[in-house]
Amino acid sequence: MITADFLVVGGGIAGSSAAAGLAPHGRTIMLEAEDAFGYHSSGRSATYYHFGIGNSTVRGLTAFSRRHFESKTLKGVARSHLSPALFVATSDMLTEMDALRREMGRFTDSLEHIDEVALRKIVPVLKSGDEGLLAGIMDHSARRLDSDALLQDYRAALSQEGGKSVTNARVASIERKDGSWVITTTRNECYAAPVLVNAAGAWCDHVAGMAGVEPLELKSLRRTIISIDAPPEHDARSWPFTKTVVDDFYMLPESGRLLACPVDEVPSDPTDAQPEDYDIALAAAKVEEYTSIPVRRIAHKWAGLRTFTRDRVPVAGFAPDAAGFFWLAGQGGYGLQTAPAMSAITEALITGAPWPDDLEQLGVTESALSVERLKQADKNTEVAPPEARGNA
Ligand SMILES: Cc1cc2nc3c(=O)[nH]c(=O)nc-3n(C[C@H](O)[C@H](O)[C@H](O)COP(=O)(O)OP(=O)(O)OC[C@H]3O[C@@H](n4cnc5c(N)ncnc54)[C@H](O)[C@@H]3O)c2cc1C
Repeated sequence: MITADFLVVGGGIAGSSAAAGLAPHGRTIMLEAEDAFGYHSSGRSATYYHFGIGNSTVRGLTAFSRRHFESKTLKGVARSHLSPALFVATSDMLTEMDALRREMGRFTDSLEHIDEVALRKIVPVLKSGDEGLLAGIMDHSARRLDSDALLQDYRAALSQEGGKSVTNARVASIERKDGSWVITTTRNECYAAPVLVNAAGAWCDHVAGMAGVEPLELKSLRRTIISIDAPPEHDARSWPFTKTVVDDFYMLPESGRLLACPVDEVPSDPTDAQPEDYDIALAAAKVEEYTSIPVRRIAHKWAGLRTFTRDRVPVAGFAPDAAGFFWLAGQGGYGLQTAPAMSAITEALITGAPWPDDLEQLGVTESALSVERLKQADKNTEVAPPEARGNA
């Protein structure tokens, strides 16, 4: 039996950032089921940081996280670089564009209105005019994140504090014994600690079930990304991340190609998500609907799960029905860009430190992220209330 102060289940961005934050406070062990960290959602994202997504709590978490992304990793590697995001609208989307500008403007002063002429200059392949896109908002504070650098850096910080991260450590059973959570993995290794952090992404409800903790009815939604050739007559490397203000399409440059996404949300069980033919075809159709690029070849494709709570705000807090069981779940489509904030919150709530001042000033409250608010919420509440829409 290996004992610790904190056991973190899940080695994605949520588990890794939480483990790094807890490590200075006690022996921390992070257990990952797969043979690589970040194998599931954290390794399949579009790696963007911007204010065009989520509700005001999510934007507050994003704003808090900026300082972390602006600095370098322990090894001196950049965690991110500035890379603007452009939110574009057809005539039918102008009301949503105004609402988005107002909401984003509460968290960044780097917004620029883009008219149709400027739109054509910035991304010449966009279909514009009466039948197409008419205007946009550029978020100049957006950033491209380096997910590998982030994951490695959090593990380096964990190990620097004497903590441990273990792959091929799939949690198979969880028991509460003498004030500790005792975990047994499928390889029959045993770990025990008084605090267990459930950061298992799409599997968080499953992990809770093993521990006899009431699930939060998280919903996993599959999203697909395709990679296509950029048109040779343009230099697409300078194009911004470009998304319709309503959730219909986005694309971004990547290593000389373009990534495109139909902003799909297909309900899925927790699984190793794979792209399905219909969603791949939809992604290609959206490229042709919004741009003049003919999709002749799909160079690469993948899918990943985005896992949400009922109100689409992540959850961080101890389970009211099980001592020492900490939920860190429901990071949805913003788990990378909010990870530094969620890590700071996890550290504060577990160690009993005060709620971070900066978060308070950004309007992020403990109750908005609490487990209790999900228990109290009307169970019939839709998974995507309109005010919380916005995806990446
Ligand atoms: C297509 C797509 C685009 C996205 N774009 C963005 C973006 O631009 N910006 C952004 O911020 N976010 C984005 N996201 C969302 C982001 O990827 C997620 O919010 C984030 O990765 C969730 O992290 P996580 O650590 O909770 O989950 P995961 O990365 O899935 O990690 C959970 C881990 O728990 C492990 N696990 C499960 N069960 C067990 C067990 N029994 N024992 C041990 N380990 C277990 C799993 O193997 C997994 O590695 C995107 C997601 C997708 C799919």
